[in-house]
Amino acid sequence: MMAKKYSNKINKIRSFALALIFVGFIIMYAGIFFRGNPIVMLIFIILGMLSLVFSMVVYFWIGLLSTRAVVVNCPNCDKPTKILGRVDMCMHCREPLTLDPELEGKEFDEDYNKKSRQTKQT
Ligand SMILES: [Zn+2]
Repeated sequence: MMAKKYSNKINKIRSFALALIFVGFIIMYAGIFFRGNPIVMLIFIILGMLSLVFSMVVYFWIGLLSTRAVVVNCPNCDKPTKILGRVDMCMHCREPLTLDPELEGKEFDEDYNKKSRQTKQT
């Protein structure tokens, strides 16, 4: 379930939305090379527009998610970060954070176990 490379969920979705904007513009720009064929050019422009619309939907979704995220101060770098779901990474230092003590050490690798032992003792 968990991705191997850890990063903050909100940040991850935000970079995905940003990538969609770039892809949309690249597709529309590619359409210029098909000026001679208006139908192909139109298809490129529509695809590019769809990509842009989809990225706006994703940005809207991030807005909704942010309202449900919990803001905590990271124990590692002491900066405020948003936690989405039961486990998430710090936005600044990628320290794994969890809101559920039962989940500690379960969904992360050995590294996380060692780190969490130092900071959180029950
Ligand atoms: Zn941090």
